[in-house]
Amino acid sequence: MDVELTKQEIEQWVRETNEAALEELWRTADEMRRRTVGEAVHLRGLIEISNHCVRQCGYCGLRAANKGLERYRMSEAEILECAHQAVCYGYGTVVMQAGEDYGITRDWLADVVRRIKAETSLAVTLSMGERPREELETWREAGADRYLLRFETSDPELYNLIHPTPSARAYQDRMAILRDLRELGYEVGSGVMVGIPGQSYASLANDIDTFRDWDLDMIGVGPYISHPDTPLGRDECRKVIAPEEQTPNTELMTYKVVALTRLICPEANIPSTTALATLNLKEGRELGLQRGANVVMPNLTPVKYRALYEIYPSKACIFESSDDCSHCLAGRIRAIGREIGTGPGGRLRSNKKSSQ
Ligand code: SAH
Repeated sequence: MDVELTKQEIEQWVRETNEAALEELWRTADEMRRRTVGEAVHLRGLIEISNHCVRQCGYCGLRAANKGLERYRMSEAEILECAHQAVCYGYGTVVMQAGEDYGITRDWLADVVRRIKAETSLAVTLSMGERPREELETWREAGADRYLLRFETSDPELYNLIHPTPSARAYQDRMAILRDLRELGYEVGSGVMVGIPGQSYASLANDIDTFRDWDLDMIGVGPYISHPDTPLGRDECRKVIAPEEQTPNTELMTYKVVALTRLICPEANIPSTTALATLNLKEGRELGLQRGANVVMPNLTPVKYRALYEIYPSKACIFESSDDCSHCLAGRIRAIGREIGTGPGGRLRSNKKSSQ
């Protein structure tokens, strides 16, 4: 297949149902992955450092209005212990993720980042939501290497519907933060959910085309999973579109997006996500890795907090220990004939275009 896809061709592919054609898509994406980022699967240890959140995202179980959720915030000592575990397991990166929690202050997190950088050779990725630029700048100066902030959907109307006011900022504001992150010298990761109620095929194709425009370093895509304690889960804030235009939030749809993303952004680091593993515990991660992905994110969060980081229900691996996750994922990677990446595994810079 031709890998120089136009937006119209991307849309045809996201609508594709023919099995032989899809086999060709998987094969082409896997081949592109092998040629660009190689056989190494990079491991990013995920530490979910807080589930407090000021936002009201319509899909997410951490939203401030979800009063039924017990909240936690990890201590500096707990986080450092996880980082040292990451080193023991041979991971090259730790990802600290949280709800948008202003109890995590600029200086406190800067100190945690500085300590991780001083005590280990890990790359540090942050995913703290839409924090002010001066905080992002301080964390970057403290040594943070990368930042993840998904734009979730490139349809501004759908975006604004599922990120309600007053605490939300609009689609353009989120994109401005991605631009700030790039200016500050972070490697920038973004991504979308697949199958959000109200997301059309055309809008999903536009999401993938947006990845190309932004020349992202990391791109995470996972299926939308309905959470009963959220407005979207209760069907309260749905954008009305023709039913036949609605993208399904399925495994198959997610593989198509992973594969097309690899073809559109050949050098990006693309994870095979936990949300994908949640839909297919048996082989979701492996199929993601065989259809374009080159990263996995083993969970390092202490078991006592895991079930509380409930962005969606029945999340994979919430009862496993960090040790279990490490062994399980290493085994899965080797079983499909891939290597475990060493070192930080940053974005390749062979052909970097100027950023937007
Ligand atoms: N506060 C951070 C981290 C949010 S959780 C931030 O805003 O960036 C990380 C990702 O989980 C989100 O970007 C979203 O894409 C995904 N997520 C949240 N709720 C979800 C759901 N119900 N189904 C699938 N993915 C979800």
